[in-house]
Amino acid sequence: MKAIVIDGPNQIELRDVEKPVCGPGDVLIKSAKAGLCRTDLELLNGEVPDEWVSYPLIPGHEWGGTVAEVGTDVTELAVGDRVVSEGMIPCNRCKRCKEGATNLCENYDQLGFTRPGGCGEYVVAPRHVVQRLPRDVSFESAVLVEPAAVVLHVISRVMPLPGEAVGVVGIGTLGSIAVQILRLFGPRALIAYGIRTEELDFARKMGATHTVNVAEQDAEETTHKILGEGVDVIVETAGSPQAVRTALDTVRGGGRVGVLGIAGESARLEIPSDYFVAKDAAVVGAFSYTTSIWSRVLGLVNNGLVNFDPIVTHRFATRDFSKAYELMDNRGTEAVAKIVLEHDQSISA
Ligand SMILES: [Zn+2]
Ligand SMILES: [Zn+2]
Repeated sequence: MKAIVIDGPNQIELRDVEKPVCGPGDVLIKSAKAGLCRTDLELLNGEVPDEWVSYPLIPGHEWGGTVAEVGTDVTELAVGDRVVSEGMIPCNRCKRCKEGATNLCENYDQLGFTRPGGCGEYVVAPRHVVQRLPRDVSFESAVLVEPAAVVLHVISRVMPLPGEAVGVVGIGTLGSIAVQILRLFGPRALIAYGIRTEELDFARKMGATHTVNVAEQDAEETTHKILGEGVDVIVETAGSPQAVRTALDTVRGGGRVGVLGIAGESARLEIPSDYFVAKDAAVVGAFSYTTSIWSRVLGLVNNGLVNFDPIVTHRFATRDFSKAYELMDNRGTEAVAKIVLEHDQSISA
């Protein structure tokens, strides 16, 4: 089968590799589409810490496809089922897994990082991470379940109450998803903070009631003009020290800040050490997602409560992967949210 393979930092190619073998408790899935994520670019650049990655690797931790084979122990999935798979593969035996914090599994394993992912034509995944997709849910929506699970994870940690004023910093894929999910809580205002006019326009389409261009406007002052005070809850999705700073500055005293962006190991943020006490603010980070959160996101998608299709802005055939990586690396002024790679479905087993 064909697969995109990252052999090591800055070494990537599309080539023929062995089709993976389906074990007794596994499902072999013909991958339809795989999302490209900033982390994939970091994998290519060799910027992901060693403990999370083992080269050579087939990337693709956001993906969906069709069941091609089921292991002998798998009874409730069948060939031809459309499915989506968690990227994280929790062991379900360790202390953290038993507590439900599968994102902190002590036996870390993840498709596209330590196991072959959705950028290969076929992927083997253990049965317990695979879930069926209804007919009317597109594979592109399936691709976005993974990033949406990361978003819902942080939102669940700063749990907005109905009628609160909420904010989202950064309107890429994660921010666009955050706007859609936060809308479900019935906020009195939903403010999007971004640096490009295009992305702020997009945020309004996704359901933001107000937008603040932080490249041109003072975020704190503008927020006070809109609300008369800071936001109750804010979610940072941009992955930069400035974005975290914007979130900390715009939340009201006693508010909650959720941080999920990854700015890179060398990024530093300096804040007054009395910030937390003086502002009486709760600031929480959220790493990845749990199985339980993943299932909830799938519920939102399957019941039509969110529509992720418009968030896919660019599509490339797998053979044009280098163009996709190039766009991810250098997006210019264009509004680029999710980039999706499509496998050639005319190729059979
Ligand atoms: Zn990702
Ligand atoms: Zn575990």
